[in-house]
Amino acid sequence: MTAEEKNALARFLDCAADYLKDGYNRPRGSYAFENDTKPDNTAPPPLIDAPSASLPSSSLPLAYQIDEDDDTLEAAEPEAVLSAGYALPEAATLSELAALVSNCSACPLAPTRKHTVPGEGAERPLVLVIGEGPGADEDATGRPFVGNAGQLLDKMLASIGLSRTENCYIANIVKCRPPGNRDPQPDEIAACLPFLHQQIKLLRPKTILCAGRVAAQALLNTSRGITALRGAFTEYTPAGDAEKPIPVLCTYHPSALLHSESYKRPAWEDLKLLKARLEERE
Ligand code: SF4
Repeated sequence: MTAEEKNALARFLDCAADYLKDGYNRPRGSYAFENDTKPDNTAPPPLIDAPSASLPSSSLPLAYQIDEDDDTLEAAEPEAVLSAGYALPEAATLSELAALVSNCSACPLAPTRKHTVPGEGAERPLVLVIGEGPGADEDATGRPFVGNAGQLLDKMLASIGLSRTENCYIANIVKCRPPGNRDPQPDEIAACLPFLHQQIKLLRPKTILCAGRVAAQALLNTSRGITALRGAFTEYTPAGDAEKPIPVLCTYHPSALLHSESYKRPAWEDLKLLKARLEERE
């Protein structure tokens, strides 16, 4: 086998291993098969090529940082990123927040996305709808809930007098598509949640509707299932604003309704609850 063929085979095996483990392909250094010389198998290839010393730190993706001791570039844990000098800057407006999202590389979803999907809708919404993350249609367009599930969501909202253009805002827990529509992983959720917390502060919605288990568990920081969480209001307290908790209702994700008729009745009951709460507040 030639050196070129060995390099191609090694690249393929690493790629397959990454996809099986995490669903994305890690950046790697070059492979060592040259002129039939055996590679040094005692040391793994670097996670990412070391940057030149002159690389400005502002051009680094959020999730990577220079180790000042040896000038290598290391992937950092998202929690470490968010708590060690890479804390999310405060956005003053939704468009500033969208710009931060579009430049974000704080988790493994960044390399495989086509577009970030920050969210869209009314700026002082009656209802903030939160889903789990973009799918293929959303990734292709940069807009939330635009596929079949999104069309059903629009109909569900319309049935109680709501609309994403007039009185709702639609967002997701993670702003980049998990490959193959898998659930976002805990580290991806942890890295992306600060964006959602900022959105909630900027939007100050009257109520929040969590669509599906992943959204409900992530926002409410619970491991309870959606069947236990739905059907009654709970509260979300924005950081630094303990006086103003926001009522939260959880329900089934529209895509679950598309797959199973049995979820439609309880979802309709949830929508009626939401409508009654909004009318009370008026
Ligand atoms: S999912 Fe969120 S944290 Fe991860 S890269 Fe996208 S915007 Fe950044």
